[in-house]
Amino acid sequence: MTTLFKDPIYITRPLAPDLDKYVSLFKNVMKSKMFSNNGQYLIELEEKLKNYLHVENNAVFCNGTTALMIALKSLNLRGYVVTTPFTFPATANVLSWNNLTPIFCDIDYETMNITPEEANKYLDILHTNVSAILPTHIFGNPCDVYGFQELASLYEVNLIYDAAHAFGVEIDGKGIGTFGDISMFSFHPTKLFHTGEGGILTYGASTYAYRKLDETIKQLRNFGIKDDTIGSIRPGINGKMSEFQAIMGLCILDKLQLEREKREIIYHLYRLFLEDIPWIKLLEIEGTTQNSLQYFPIRIIGNSRDEVAERLKEHNVFARKYFYPICSDFPHLQPIESKLPIAKKVSEEILCLPFYGELTADDIEKICSIIIKK
Ligand SMILES: *Cc1c(COP(=O)(O)O)cnc(C)c1O
Repeated sequence: MTTLFKDPIYITRPLAPDLDKYVSLFKNVMKSKMFSNNGQYLIELEEKLKNYLHVENNAVFCNGTTALMIALKSLNLRGYVVTTPFTFPATANVLSWNNLTPIFCDIDYETMNITPEEANKYLDILHTNVSAILPTHIFGNPCDVYGFQELASLYEVNLIYDAAHAFGVEIDGKGIGTFGDISMFSFHPTKLFHTGEGGILTYGASTYAYRKLDETIKQLRNFGIKDDTIGSIRPGINGKMSEFQAIMGLCILDKLQLEREKREIIYHLYRLFLEDIPWIKLLEIEGTTQNSLQYFPIRIIGNSRDEVAERLKEHNVFARKYFYPICSDFPHLQPIESKLPIAKKVSEEILCLPFYGELTADDIEKICSIIIKK
């Protein structure tokens, strides 16, 4: 058998900065001798991202997982947190770092997100022990943000979103990071926008309560230090983003528009080749929502996902089983018991296909021909 691809095709390729711009910023950092600790480029990146994400407050971090750990810490959560089993391990593991017990709630088969209706079943019975809801906007497809807001208000619990897949997504013209108490976006190189490693928290309006939250989050990012005189007043850690990460981010911001345009074409090509195959299910993004263009997930119905993944591998194409296994199966977590038949089924059907701007129309056609050939 001849392989259709000589060089390996991975699920994504990180965007690279314009080298001249990166080198020129790098030289400035060298001259300043300010490599970290709220440098000028970190501040510039935070300002630019406020505009890009349409949010009032934000703070950038060394990575998304640390950002999410700090988000949970800043809200003083206790007891149980209702979350999704169908997500990247970081979402569930940060609960463990905060001594919180997950309640994994089953997902909706169409959207692959958890829903307010399902979460309500647990809040209804266990609400005195539940302090927060932590949904993931899986593959950038927004959760029912209005329904979750209502539920969180009703039970007076916090609402934190793992928005790692949803950079740039807008709902009814509002940045997705404005919903809930806090949202986290990851800037890992596998994500559309990245800073080498990095992440951000976005939160709320410019009210007094949010100014206090902003202060708490920024202290937790920097060892809990309030100022030189008083020292550390909270169990903070080192979550700071360096200037080298910040200048990468500033360069990558310039690249987003073109990359989004290229991915838009690839998105439509995949749909064209795959939408009529009866055993393949595509993710439908609702019309009022801007697509994050970060993943291209498909579901292979009828127990042949692993076969399709193997067949792609034989041709040097490395699709990924995002997300399998589900978090409720991790040996190190002790969740409250729950039944998760849909999450289990989806995790056995899911396959994320290569999705990045450098792929050609010919590549997409070949990838689809390998998938379809039974
Ligand atoms: C990438 C990702 C994270 C982790 O972010 P890092 O920046 O790699 O720490 C968390 N949650 C989800 C859903 C992710 O995809």
